[in-house]
Amino acid sequence: MKTFACTCKNTLHFPNTECVKCHSMLGFLPDELSLAPIKEVAPGMYRTDTSNHLYRKCRNYAELDVCNWMVRDDDSHSLCQSCRLTETIPNLNDPKNLRLWFLMEEAKRRLLYSIFKLDLPVVSKQENQVSGLGFAFLEDVTQDAFGNELTIKSYVTTGHQSGLITINLNEADPSTRIEMREKMQEQYRTLLGHFRHESGHYFWDCLIKNSAYLEEFRRLFGDERIDYQHAMQSYYSNGPAADWQNVWISAYASMHPWEDWAETWAHYLHMVDTLETANQFEFSIAGSPLSNPLVAHEHDNALLTETNFTRLFDDWCRLTRALNALNRSMGLDDAYPFVISLSALNKLRFVHKVIESEALSSK
Ligand SMILES: [Zn+2]
Ligand SMILES: [Zn+2]
Ligand SMILES: [Zn+2]
Repeated sequence: MKTFACTCKNTLHFPNTECVKCHSMLGFLPDELSLAPIKEVAPGMYRTDTSNHLYRKCRNYAELDVCNWMVRDDDSHSLCQSCRLTETIPNLNDPKNLRLWFLMEEAKRRLLYSIFKLDLPVVSKQENQVSGLGFAFLEDVTQDAFGNELTIKSYVTTGHQSGLITINLNEADPSTRIEMREKMQEQYRTLLGHFRHESGHYFWDCLIKNSAYLEEFRRLFGDERIDYQHAMQSYYSNGPAADWQNVWISAYASMHPWEDWAETWAHYLHMVDTLETANQFEFSIAGSPLSNPLVAHEHDNALLTETNFTRLFDDWCRLTRALNALNRSMGLDDAYPFVISLSALNKLRFVHKVIESEALSSK
């Protein structure tokens, strides 16, 4: 993630709505992927110092402060490119839900920043009801309207189906999420991680399902036509394969080739975004600077793809070794508690190749 600069030279961060130094109001411009100070030039109309366009605030920014993105004046939608992808929001009559929804949208915006930066295609459900991308943030229903326990309770499963990504609202609540992480014996469980993982399923449908990559996908990840329900039951009753660390990037990835792909995809997004952040802060390790893979992406050509991946992975290993050591010095858990085997590395290389080829074909 990039940092941005205010006109007063103060550093601005992606979720900011106000400069802490000069108190300018801020808005994120999705068409430029930049955060900038905004000035109201007519009621509800804003301008930045650098853009030629006028903008309105996303309705979720103007009315509820759950967003900081802008909508260009030539776009008739009242919601920004991120908020319009949300098909179902939580019930806001429950006061705690506004905060949880805000956290959901914040993580979604961070996912979309990476998706847009990587020039990946996003088609909304409004554009394609059958396979377009949409999000539903749903709550478990365990009580009736009077607070009485229901005999038949309904629990929400986080997952993806035909472009619709459903996330259980509980995942935005840190205490519930940590409890779940402990129960599932996971080393890493974050809201952003869920968004990255689930987006992997959507992009599998877009980029792999009916493509020339399918054969190579099956060689690396296995045959996705094996029964999913059976694989899931077997994973939850027997746990992961004993040798999962040699083959998969996480224990969960061993459940089914689709989950393996989604986990690998999520890790690729972790790598690209975190390296961009480190690069923005001009991190060097042992005197050698860390590169920004997104700069390589912008200037890429097919011949550079492999070189870029080698550099990306090398920088990622150097960064995460330092990052984990820093966290331990603070008494915190490792930021990146994973070891990437040769098999997982080949899968990451494949994700990189698919993304870069997709970008090349859309240029
Ligand atoms: Zn400022
Ligand atoms: Zn918005
Ligand atoms: Zn999944």
